[in-house]
Amino acid sequence: MLFDTHAHYDDERFDGDRDALLASMPENGVGLILNPGCDLDTSRKAAAYAAAYPHVYAAAGYHPENLEGGVDLDAIEALARENPKVRAIGEIGLDYYWEKDPAKRKYQQEVFHAQMRLAKRLGLPVIIHDREAHLDTLTVVEQHPGVMGVFHCYSGSAEMAKRLLGLGYYLSFTGVITYKNARKAREVIEMAPLDRIMVETDAPYLSPEPFRGKRNSSLYVYRVAEQIAEIRNLPAEEVVRITAENGRRFFGIQG
Ligand SMILES: [Zn+2]
Repeated sequence: MLFDTHAHYDDERFDGDRDALLASMPENGVGLILNPGCDLDTSRKAAAYAAAYPHVYAAAGYHPENLEGGVDLDAIEALARENPKVRAIGEIGLDYYWEKDPAKRKYQQEVFHAQMRLAKRLGLPVIIHDREAHLDTLTVVEQHPGVMGVFHCYSGSAEMAKRLLGLGYYLSFTGVITYKNARKAREVIEMAPLDRIMVETDAPYLSPEPFRGKRNSSLYVYRVAEQIAEIRNLPAEEVVRITAENGRRFFGIQG
C-alpha cells in the first residue's frame, strides 16, 4: 500500500473527476493520501476531502507564494483544532524562485516563523516548501527545535540533508527524481536513512517519467518508490512498505 504524502486535489485540474479519482485510490494500491493546504480556502477544502474519505488526511497552512492578501493564522489554528484529520501545518516555507523582492522575502520569513510557532502550539509537524531558499529555510527551522518536519520535494544538497536529518527532519521526494538531471537528489537518496524518506506526487504537478507533461495524480506515486528502490538496490515493495510506514509515523496515522 502506497502513501502519497503530498497531493493537491483542490486544484482545478481535478474539477472534472476529483471524487471518482479519490474514491478509486485504495483499489489502485494507494492506501493513504495527504492533501496539504496553500491558503485558508485550500486548507478548508483539504479538511473536507479528509472528512469525506477514510484514506485522505489534510494539512493546513499558507504557502509562501500565497501571502499577497495577508494571512489569517487564527482561522488556520481553528481549522486544525476542529478537524482531527488535519495532521500537519503546511505547506509553509520560502520561495525565492518566484519572489525576488527583498521586503516580500522578509515577509515570507515572518509568516514562516509564525506558522512554525503555530505548529509547536498545536503539537503538529510541518510540511516545508523550500525553493531556491535553502540557507534561509535551514536558518528558520533551526530556530524552532521543538518542531518536527518534512522537506517536501527535497531539492537541497547532501550536506544540507545531513543537517536536517540531524535535526530529526524527514525528506520527501517527487517524480522529479525520475528526470535525467536529478543527480543531486539521487546523492541524497543514496545516503539518507530509509526510515526518514517519504514519497509524494505533488499532484497535479511534477509527473514522473514516463508521464512527464501530463496531469499528475497519486496513481503515479509508485514511480517515485520504484526510482528510490533502484537507487538503493532494494525491491520496490520494500520501499513502498517503508515509506508508507514512515508517513504513518510522521503524520500520526494508526494501523
Ligand atoms: Zn505542494
